[in-house]
Amino acid sequence: MNQLQEWTGKCQRCFIESEVFTMSIVDVALICFRCRDAEVAKREEKRMKHNVLILVLMIGVVDSVASGVARVELSSSNEDTIDAYIPVKLFPCIVEEGDIFSIDIADGVTEIRCGDPDI
Ligand SMILES: [Zn+2]
Repeated sequence: MNQLQEWTGKCQRCFIESEVFTMSIVDVALICFRCRDAEVAKREEKRMKHNVLILVLMIGVVDSVASGVARVELSSSNEDTIDAYIPVKLFPCIVEEGDIFSIDIADGVTEIRCGDPDI
């Protein structure tokens, strides 16, 4: 799918009805989180195969979520912490208070990853 189509309440990949959606990481399809998880898993698999180095820059904890913006606390490896506001749309998952994520560089691309980094 190369053309962005409006959300009609159904995943544009598996056509299941869903109240929440996100954009695919491989094209512009609006998809459910199950399809998104599958895409992420596939990408991870690819990474493992090619042994891509992932460098974790910062660990973040979600303080609160309001009006589509997450207030987060970011800490870097030298223990500095900074408060930041990140639009929830930038997260590849649904975030709630207390969720942990990381900001890392994988294959030259800076990205937000949900969950505790396993490195
Ligand atoms: Zn789907």
